[in-house]
Amino acid sequence: MTEDIQKLLEENERLIKLNAVKSEIVSIGAHQIRTSLAALKWIIKMFLDGDLGKLTSEQETLLRRAYEGNERSIGLVSEILLINKSEDVVEKEYIFENTNLIDTIENTIFDFSGESAARGIELIFLKPINTIPHVKADKEKIRVVLQNLIENAIKYSNYHGKIFVSIKANEDDFVEVSVKDSGIGISEDSKGKIFEKFYRTDKAQKKEAMGSGIGLYTSKKIIETHGGKVWFESLEGQGATFLFTVPVWKS
Ligand code: ADP
Repeated sequence: MTEDIQKLLEENERLIKLNAVKSEIVSIGAHQIRTSLAALKWIIKMFLDGDLGKLTSEQETLLRRAYEGNERSIGLVSEILLINKSEDVVEKEYIFENTNLIDTIENTIFDFSGESAARGIELIFLKPINTIPHVKADKEKIRVVLQNLIENAIKYSNYHGKIFVSIKANEDDFVEVSVKDSGIGISEDSKGKIFEKFYRTDKAQKKEAMGSGIGLYTSKKIIETHGGKVWFESLEGQGATFLFTVPVWKS
């Protein structure tokens, strides 16, 4: 029996190492491809901007197609890098610390202030007046969850939308955070699949070409490893609210 367990542990160790090597290969390869594509982008752009002489309309049409194809490839490679990074984040060891979520929320909102302003969206933190207990959390990973939820709220909101982030203490020793938007919302028949890896609704794909369907899957794993829960409430066309809980820090 102990021998079997020992074998399983060794096999597990081997697979973890193999996975780390795989991640690194994907990351190096994808970075190199993205660098080449980026170089190509600027060359095509110089032609399109007329920096290298006037183009015939046929040349311009073809170059524009090449430019757009190249842009799609850059997007795809960036998504591969993101998926690879998300897997790394979830699997890396968790370091649970006494954490003030208010700071994490404020820092994350600050990071997205430029992007939300560029899309005409107001990102508002409803900071509570009462004190909120600190939580037991891995700061880096909780930040990834907040980034995913806020980024989604921005991506799936319409111009002039408002996003509200709030935090409160629950009766049962958990702190609850919510991110509420007034965007496209989620249809009834998609609701069961939202946290599945790579799942994206048709509406989301039409609204926002960029996306991998990995953010919510990753967020759920992170929150569950903290002993919390993540869920959402939504009516199609009327926005969505994503919520999660994290246990209170006990000294
Ligand atoms: P991505 O945003 O990259 O597609 P996610 O895993 O973060 O991947 O989200 C999965 C899917 O859940 C999205 O493609 C979208 O269909 C839906 N979704 C997530 N957040 C929202 C939101 N705030 N409003 C509407 N739909 C959402």
